[in-house]
Amino acid sequence: LAGVSATAVRAGPTTDGTPGVAPDTPPPAPSYPSRQSLFIVQIAPEMAPVAKVGGLADVVFGLTRELAIRGNHVEVILPKYATLRYDHIFELHEVFHDLWVPWYEAAIHCTVYFGFVHGRKCFFIEPHSRDDFFSRGSIYGFPDDVLRYAFFSRAAMEFLWRAGKHPDIIHCHDWQTALVPVFLYEIYQRLGMNHPRVCLTIHNFAHQGLTGGELLRATGLHQPERYFDYHRLRDNRHPNALNLLKGGVVYANFVTTVSPRYAAETKDQGQGFGLEPTLHMHQVKYGGVVNGIDYDVWNPEIDQHIPVRYGLDTIDGKYDNKRALRHRLMLADNEKPMVAFIGRLDPQKGLDLVRHAIFYTLERGGQFVLLGSSPDPGINADFWGLKRMLNDSPDCHLEIGFDEDLSHLIYAGADMMLVPSRFEPCGLTQLIALRYGTVPIVRAVGGLADTVFDKDHSSRPLHERNGYVFEHYDQAGLESALGRGLACYHQYPEHFRELMKNAMRADYSWNRPGQDYLNIYDYIRDK
Ligand code: ADP
Repeated sequence: LAGVSATAVRAGPTTDGTPGVAPDTPPPAPSYPSRQSLFIVQIAPEMAPVAKVGGLADVVFGLTRELAIRGNHVEVILPKYATLRYDHIFELHEVFHDLWVPWYEAAIHCTVYFGFVHGRKCFFIEPHSRDDFFSRGSIYGFPDDVLRYAFFSRAAMEFLWRAGKHPDIIHCHDWQTALVPVFLYEIYQRLGMNHPRVCLTIHNFAHQGLTGGELLRATGLHQPERYFDYHRLRDNRHPNALNLLKGGVVYANFVTTVSPRYAAETKDQGQGFGLEPTLHMHQVKYGGVVNGIDYDVWNPEIDQHIPVRYGLDTIDGKYDNKRALRHRLMLADNEKPMVAFIGRLDPQKGLDLVRHAIFYTLERGGQFVLLGSSPDPGINADFWGLKRMLNDSPDCHLEIGFDEDLSHLIYAGADMMLVPSRFEPCGLTQLIALRYGTVPIVRAVGGLADTVFDKDHSSRPLHERNGYVFEHYDQAGLESALGRGLACYHQYPEHFRELMKNAMRADYSWNRPGQDYLNIYDYIRDK
């Protein structure tokens, strides 16, 4: 089984390919392999839009629907945060009044609610204890976060057990719910819960949930010598710490991250934040699946946020949006190409290269628009300084802040989207840009490398090439890609248009990742 990856387990429907059918013979009816529908439970700390901090929330939201429309029964278990967006939950009602979740030497009384979130079936667990695990002002950021989510993971498993639910698949996410497979195989399997298999998706290796031995007492994982073992939960770098994410990797039946390239980078190229040896040890059950984006939200044909809607056959509508964007940002209306950057102003996103790209684009006869913000006041101040410096330019606008509405207009109006990240597990910006025919200019890392294929230097066929890519994180690297993009726009407009069309034709909806995950589920069910 060595080398199993999302690619290896990917096997879409096939046709029988019968050769030599006589002209008058009607074609044989297509035969689709039938597959059993599955009962899938997602146990997650976030789901858009009710509890969203980052991309994990969008993945749970998008994947849940994709799995359901393929005929599977899907339920989601979430904490009942005080900060939930209750306006997006329909028919919320109590379904399980007395759930007692073992905690230290006693148990915490919980109530479980059910409600629909845009058609998705969701259970919300509410503990009643002085710890007030989820009735707080925000989702994360508390000293007891590890215990809060260890409790949630235990409560979710206790709920499945007490409610008599026996899902085929439990899909959990990040360190917050990485203890789920540990609890399943160490506690609930012994109680007779033999059926479920667990898939763990890691969205971010930077946070792993490190903690001390108290966790074991709290969660009922007695036998510290068993869990403080290098082959179980003991952290690879801090021998006195337990690592929840590592536990998830060890115990889950399959582990994914959000792109095949990032899977390789975390396992082999030092980006696993200490988990590299563990990923190596478990590589036969480790792979990458690129996230999808929600084409109900990100689709220029139906987007309510943009003044002129357009598609592949009406691509000229894009230029009306470009004009509207210039008007909104008070930029000159001229023949220049427009390069954009949308993202968190975080060093991960390659901020020094973004800065260089602004000046380079202006020098090379382009316009530049930036939309971004940072929780770090120092970084914001730097960009405010830059904004003041460029204030008089009719070809540049920096918008420091978070503005989803404006982001739609930028995706629609810009010609190129810059994503020069230092690392990028998956990246949504380039996927959205592709959908809007905005040519991505990206560094070849993580999910960017898996989704953007260079116009001039790619092993892909011409019709799949959809952007410009550079390897080395330096100014020369950036210029090599951005310079070619700007030159093509000026000198070979018809080639540039082909690139835009290739971008729009690519399918980065949940369709394919949905099938990839189902293949993984089938694979672990059969083992
Ligand atoms: P990350 O999860 O590392 O922030 P992604 O590329 O996966 O990066 O996702 C970023 C998402 O957030 C994209 O949908 C992008 O449009 C959006 N976004 C980022 N910054 C802003 C902003 N300042 N205003 C509006 N949308 C933003």
